[in-house]
Amino acid sequence: MTGDPLEHVIAFWKPMMEVPAVGAPGNVLEPAQTPGHGFGAMAPASEPRRYTIVDGPDRIRIFAAVEPIGAVPPSATVVAEVLDDTGTPYSYVLRHSDNGAVVVPFDPTRAIEAFWHEDYLPRSRRSALPKPLLSFYYTVAKRFMPAVVRQWLRRRLAHRALASPDMLTWPMDQDLDLLQRFLLKALMLAAGRTEVEFVWFWPDRHPWAVTLTHDVETGNGLARVPHVAELERKRGLRSSFNMVPRDYEVPDALVQDLTGDGFEIGVHGYTHDGLLFSSRAVFDERTGTIEAAARRWGAVGFRSPATYRNPDWLPLLPFEYDSSYSNTAPCEPQPGGCGSFFPFAVGRMTELPITLPQDHTLFELLQESGPGTWLSVLSAIKASHGMACVLAHPDPAEGYMGMPENQLAYEAVLDEVAASDAWKALPRDVARWWRARAEASPEAGALMERASLGTARLDAAGRLEIVPPPA
Ligand SMILES: [Zn+2]
Repeated sequence: MTGDPLEHVIAFWKPMMEVPAVGAPGNVLEPAQTPGHGFGAMAPASEPRRYTIVDGPDRIRIFAAVEPIGAVPPSATVVAEVLDDTGTPYSYVLRHSDNGAVVVPFDPTRAIEAFWHEDYLPRSRRSALPKPLLSFYYTVAKRFMPAVVRQWLRRRLAHRALASPDMLTWPMDQDLDLLQRFLLKALMLAAGRTEVEFVWFWPDRHPWAVTLTHDVETGNGLARVPHVAELERKRGLRSSFNMVPRDYEVPDALVQDLTGDGFEIGVHGYTHDGLLFSSRAVFDERTGTIEAAARRWGAVGFRSPATYRNPDWLPLLPFEYDSSYSNTAPCEPQPGGCGSFFPFAVGRMTELPITLPQDHTLFELLQESGPGTWLSVLSAIKASHGMACVLAHPDPAEGYMGMPENQLAYEAVLDEVAASDAWKALPRDVARWWRARAEASPEAGALMERASLGTARLDAAGRLEIVPPPA
C-alpha cells in the first residue's frame, strides 16, 4: 500500500478546493474495485515501464506501473488513453457516468517521483561510461589522453545519447509538468469543477521566474567573475557564483564585494574531479571541507561538479538547496533529467533543476553557436509559467560563456531576461519561496506574504488553461 496518490499533485498546485473523496482506504483502488465517487488511483504490483498518456494534442511520457484495461465499460467515458511503449492502447483514464468518479490506472505519487528520482533510466544508462571506466577516465585518461581525442569521444557519446529513446527530449522536456496539468484536470473532473483557483507559483504576481547561476571551474574562470558580474549588474540583474573549495583560492574580498552587491556565492563540490559521490568513504572525507567553505562564503546552495548526484547523500550536505539536477540532460556524464521547469524537494533540500541547456553542452558537445536554443527554451519556460535556471561558466575555455562568441549569446539571454516580466531572483530566494509555498496549506498559502492566486480553467473540449494572477 502506498501513501496518498494525490500528495504531490496537491502540493504542486495548492488548489483552493475541497479535494474530492476517494474510493478506498489509502486512496488507492484495487483493480476489481469500482469507485464510489470522486477520484481513484490504481497501484498495480507490476514493474513500472514507459507509457504514454494521450491528452488531446499532448502526449505525456510516464514511467509507472499501469493497470491494463482492455475494454471501456459502457458506464464510463474515456478521459485519456494510455499507450504502451509500442504505441498500442494499453489502458484508460476513465470517468464513470453514473457518479462522475475519475479513475487513473496508476499511482500519481509514484509516477511523479519517477521523474524526480530519474527512475525511468535503465541502470545501464545511468552513467555515460561504466563505473570502472569512469574513474579511469577521471584519474588517468583525462590527464594523458590528447585533448582532441577526449573531445571526439565526448561529442560522440553526446550524439549517441541524444538519439537514445531512453532519454528525455532535448533541448527541453515537459513530461512531468504536462503530467501535473493532466492530474489537476482529472481532479477537477472528479470534483465537477470547471474552474479552480490555486496559490500562484511565484511571488508578486510574476508570471514566471528566472535565476542565473555560474559554476567557476578554474582560477582562470575566477579571474573573469567581476567581468561577468558587471554584464549582469548593468542590466539590473544578479546571479550566483558557485566556487570550488580546493581548486583555487577564493579571496575573501571578492566574496564580500559580490555578496555586498546582491550576488550570491554557492559551493561547487570539493575539487572538480567528479568523484564526490563515487563512494561513501570519499563523500564523508570531503564533507568537512565543503561545510567549511559554505561557512566561510555564507553559502546556502550547492552544485555538484559535472552534475553528479545522489539523492540519498545530497541532503546530508549542509545546504538549503541543491541545483545539480537538470530539466533534461542526456549528454551529461550522469545522464537524466526531471522533465520539469519547476523546483521540487530532494529530502529536506529544495532542488532547483538547471532548466536551460548548459553552455558547454550546447557550444562544445553539440557544436551549436548563438543564443537560438537558449532563447527558444526561455520562451517555452515563460509560456509554461516555470523557472528558468540558467547555468553558464565564466571560464575562458572551449564551450564556456567565457569565450567571446559565447558571451554574446549569454548577453542576448540577459537582455531578454532584463526586459521580461519574470521574477528575477537569486537561487536561494527561489528555493526559500518554493519551500514556504510547499509547506503552506492552500488557505495559508493564499495568505502568504507576496502570494496571489492563479486560475485553472477547463473548457468544453477538455483543455486546461492556466491563467496567471492579473498583473
Ligand atoms: Zn563545474
